[in-house]
Amino acid sequence: MARKLALLGLTLALAACGGGSARDVDISGDTRPRAAAVSRAETDLDASAIAKQLFGRVPLASNQRSESFGGYAKGCLAGGARLPETGPTWQAMRLSRNRNWGHPNLVAYLERLSQKAAQQPGWDGLYIGDMSQPRGGPMLTGHASHQIGLDADIWMRPANNLALTRADRENLGSISMQRANGAYVSDSWTRQHHEILKAAASDPAVARIFVFAGAKVQMCNDEKGDRSWLAKIRPWWGHHYHFHVRLACPAGAPGCIDQAPPPPGDGCDDAQQWVNNILNPPPPAPRDPDAPAPAPKREIVLADLPAQCTSVLSSQ
Ligand SMILES: [Zn+2]
Repeated sequence: MARKLALLGLTLALAACGGGSARDVDISGDTRPRAAAVSRAETDLDASAIAKQLFGRVPLASNQRSESFGGYAKGCLAGGARLPETGPTWQAMRLSRNRNWGHPNLVAYLERLSQKAAQQPGWDGLYIGDMSQPRGGPMLTGHASHQIGLDADIWMRPANNLALTRADRENLGSISMQRANGAYVSDSWTRQHHEILKAAASDPAVARIFVFAGAKVQMCNDEKGDRSWLAKIRPWWGHHYHFHVRLACPAGAPGCIDQAPPPPGDGCDDAQQWVNNILNPPPPAPRDPDAPAPAPKREIVLADLPAQCTSVLSSQ
């Protein structure tokens, strides 16, 4: 399999060099060949193959220009950049998962956010959880999104020791910030969490940040200054051990599919409603006896992904 892919990669690399557009230099100066839209008939990759089986096993990024293809929950990443396992203000966690990869914009974002976190009392930086696989795509375990190198999970546990060993980073857990099923923050929540999430959401590269509803309401109540950043903080299930940052598609990335922006306003009323529903769950909607049974969830296959993802997979 590996050899087949390698041969195919060579063929595609040669093919890519033949195309004029493949040698265009992008604004970042990345001169590597662009992942082309490859017809699957030209490859020996099976279009009906389960995509996570393919993407979940590739150990390194493709040697292509860095580009995100598709949407956050259905796509892939060409030319992935690796977040160094340890930096001056961060450590990547759970290294065995090999998910410390992303678009270079995401790596740069995490580096600058971790510098800001390191200015908070009790924090030396950030512990970074899952980003993407080396070539993005669906994962064998966890996460529907994180597929195009623009999502990252950031631990809520204050990073106060940046000398963790590989083993520490497998075994250490994050800390939950929630109480009452996510309706409220726990005693572990601090003003530093507020400031780090505020810095995270205020960065113009960010599209959304997902965090449990009780944390959003707490930040809504505590913020006495500029509230515009709260719009990007979106309540979601889970997300009490970590918050999830989602960057917008990079400028000039035609193959990358943005999500609709969050609605205008700070979203604090919505978050309060979310909390109210946790505390007093509304009765379930009556079932329509004539409604068709929901279609069973189907695995994403290679043919579901943008055509460039075949090139991303086969590239060297
Ligand atoms: Zn996440």
